[in-house]
Amino acid sequence: MFKKILVANRGEIALRVIRAAREMGIASVAVHSTADSDAMHVRMADESVCVGPPSSTQSYLSIPAIIAAAEITGAEAIHPGYGFLSENANFVQVVQDHGLTFIGPTAEHIRVMGDKITAKDTMKKLGVPCVPGSAGGVATLEDAKALGKEMGYPVIIKATAGGGGKGMKVAQSAKEMEQAFQTARAEGKSNFGNDEVYIEKYLTTPRHIEIQVFGDGKGRAVHLGERDCSLQRRHQKVFEEAPGPAISAEERARIGKVCADAMADINYIGAGTIEFLYENGEFYFIEMNTRLQVEHPVTEAIFGVDLVREQIRVASGLDMSFVQEDLHINGHSIEVRINAEKLPNFTPCPGRITQYHAPGGLGVRMDSALYDGYSIPPFYDSLIGKLIVHGRDRPEALARLNRALGELIVDGVDTTVPLFHQLLQEEAIHTGDYNIHWLEHWLETRFGDA
Ligand code: ADP
Repeated sequence: MFKKILVANRGEIALRVIRAAREMGIASVAVHSTADSDAMHVRMADESVCVGPPSSTQSYLSIPAIIAAAEITGAEAIHPGYGFLSENANFVQVVQDHGLTFIGPTAEHIRVMGDKITAKDTMKKLGVPCVPGSAGGVATLEDAKALGKEMGYPVIIKATAGGGGKGMKVAQSAKEMEQAFQTARAEGKSNFGNDEVYIEKYLTTPRHIEIQVFGDGKGRAVHLGERDCSLQRRHQKVFEEAPGPAISAEERARIGKVCADAMADINYIGAGTIEFLYENGEFYFIEMNTRLQVEHPVTEAIFGVDLVREQIRVASGLDMSFVQEDLHINGHSIEVRINAEKLPNFTPCPGRITQYHAPGGLGVRMDSALYDGYSIPPFYDSLIGKLIVHGRDRPEALARLNRALGELIVDGVDTTVPLFHQLLQEEAIHTGDYNIHWLEHWLETRFGDA
């Protein structure tokens, strides 16, 4: 087992990894930008190294700086968290070239799944059901229009390199195709340096269901059920839960096995998430994330496993500490993402935290790097915490979420907490009867285009 690992990230996910390492008797190294000198991950790690100025391209994304930090401190492995370098195949290669271990999948798997066209192709070959759409990239507007006609509108045009909701445009009709096609290409080019796009049938009432998979890199893989992340704003998740309220045990076992078998087939190592849209009882693959997800705690809650610990185990060459038969669902878990954002526009709201009090009690987990007097820098993501609750069933989890939100105090900046208070008043949240468009419609009716 490793003696020391470096965590190439910040915020709550850096704490998450440091905590797992500490429980395993592994020392941790934090890296930080000059804007994060006072950050909690720096305080909590055993050692820390400043890797550059505030701009993430010059600090958290600087491969030479991160590698140098690992070499200086004698860290043997690097955990990337999510975001930043977590899905950068080149980084994985450089880490290995320096004789270090990347805690995550191989560069090859990251590359294959990072390109949405090759990912879809690969999954199709592995027997995973996909959204109907173009066979590969679509090069010209004429081809796009011909496909739209053939498939029937609405369709969605997606940048093959896209992510984080960027590079996706819906065309409701042939008339809208030109603009949607050009915009998706331009967004792909400007955000990801790749303007290749492909086209899919746009599903009108799906749920977002994702399967957590885990492999040991030696041909064994398991699934840990699904998460329902249908409550989204601008294709970004805000509320996630497990198990999915609309998924039966038979459906879970069936799609879970398809996913686990696919991962075993390719010798996948570490944690991964296979994302699907789910409509009328059918699953349609949309993409795979080759990393730990923000919402992984809801899966940890219902299965009683530590996914980061497992990531570190398999990266060090050990086996996973469970097999499929050991994995049983216990109760229901919900996570809400607490962002420093001002409603109703969700404008980022960095600033100084004048008071912070985390909720507690049975079945409550607060993953956050906040503390009294902390100043949220304006340079990074606005996620400042994740509140995760676990109950015996969904109604208990919802009641607990309501109770825990009531205890939470974050003063000094605006947050998305009021959104969750309001959502908990909604019948649909309690019945679980919603799809990926529900939240956008709800926001529109409440706040209009504000
Ligand atoms: P990203 O990589 O940017 O997160 P995804 O391909 O994972 O993009 O899609 C993100 C979200 O966009 C989905 O959860 C869903 O809400 C919506 N979406 C993607 N593909 C489709 C589709 N074919 N039909 C309807 N909605 C879609």
